[in-house]
Amino acid sequence: MRRKLVVGNWKMNGSLATIAELDAIAAAAGRAPGIDVAVAMPATLIAPAVARMPGFAIGAQDVHQDKSGAHTGCVSADMVREAGAAFTIVGHSERRTDQHETDADVKAKAETARGAGLSVILCVGETLTQRDAGEAERVVTDQLAASLPAGAAADWLAIAYEPIWAIGTGRVPGEADAAAMHGAIRAALCGLLGEAGAAVRILYGGSVTGENAGLLLHIEDVDGALVGGASLTAAKFVPIVEAAQR
Ligand code: PEP
Repeated sequence: MRRKLVVGNWKMNGSLATIAELDAIAAAAGRAPGIDVAVAMPATLIAPAVARMPGFAIGAQDVHQDKSGAHTGCVSADMVREAGAAFTIVGHSERRTDQHETDADVKAKAETARGAGLSVILCVGETLTQRDAGEAERVVTDQLAASLPAGAAADWLAIAYEPIWAIGTGRVPGEADAAAMHGAIRAALCGLLGEAGAAVRILYGGSVTGENAGLLLHIEDVDGALVGGASLTAAKFVPIVEAAQR
């Protein structure tokens, strides 16, 4: 049995004032004991968020693949761990695009994060052009195979399938397409990890809202959600938590 996992991703949003939203989010998580809830914060807000909400899972959105060194402006896995992060996202499509991160970079980041004691959410997803060309499953399973960290296991790794065309657009895949892709990712995980692949959670991400979460989260092999825009306020995020718990 895989517990559902709902993760917010605040991206480059938020401030010391808006971390007060976490109060109601953590309270909703407390009313949903059957699922896991977490929020990935901007690096500067991790320590204040952890101080405000001890016991609630706060994470980072990225870490560098090196443990330390001459990488101006970057943040290491040890640094976010020391700030109190329990996990990090790696391989988000915005970083793969904006920072030109490769599958090899993403794999290295995941392994460094694991070495620092962080859990990892590894993102994969296709462009609209790739989907329209009928290449979505191949692209996503190739990405997965090339970015899966050594020693991948369900107790520290989850996969987030995030079709790039669904992120921040209000578009979501139909039920059949989502089920087919999550099934393909499950098959790929089992091919790569054997029986252990069956336990790894596969989240869906891309325009999840309180309105569509009930449907999306009950598709087979959809084990939770990675939520961007709708995680910024408790008013929008809590209904998603509640839909996952039902
Ligand atoms: C994301 O970028 O991880 C994401 C899911 O964004 P949104 O929910 O805003 O589409």
